[in-house]
Amino acid sequence: MAGKVRAKLPDIERFNKHVDFNGPTHPTQPELGRCHVWTGYIKPSGYGTFWDGEKKKRAHRWRYEYAYGLVPDDHDVDHTCCNRACVNPKHLQAVSKAAHREAGRNRNRPRKPYPQRGVIPALARVVSVVTPWSMGKPISRIVDETGLSVSYVERMVSAANSDPEMVRSIEMAD
Ligand SMILES: [Zn+2]
Repeated sequence: MAGKVRAKLPDIERFNKHVDFNGPTHPTQPELGRCHVWTGYIKPSGYGTFWDGEKKKRAHRWRYEYAYGLVPDDHDVDHTCCNRACVNPKHLQAVSKAAHREAGRNRNRPRKPYPQRGVIPALARVVSVVTPWSMGKPISRIVDETGLSVSYVERMVSAANSDPEMVRSIEMAD
């Protein structure tokens, strides 16, 4: 399981076909932008579901893992915006199941993200930036869709532009 890259680019493009990127602005942290609202199937629980090619998964959880890497054992993916249909990775954080239950009691009180939100696997991170960019996608869209910082994306793109070997060295140093 370790090192397995779960999400390949075609999956994210398929995923994004079911996303309305113009949802409501984050209720407590407008700098985190708008909710990306799942327009595909929503379960009665309020969570979206996404077929990842092997099985049905919670859409927000799939999106979290695409952006940041696998959710650790005994953790849930929490919405800081309290919008269960939201799949914006900037509004998602992995929290221990115990902390999530606690947060559930304060469901209507949006939360600030924890500073640590997991680490995207190195290879998936490079792929999620460089591949869409090489296909002509604007950097602003890549930032929106990956949840990575503008400076990270720009650094990755300029490195890939000048020297593919650079990508590897940035990856090692990051
Ligand atoms: Zn949201």
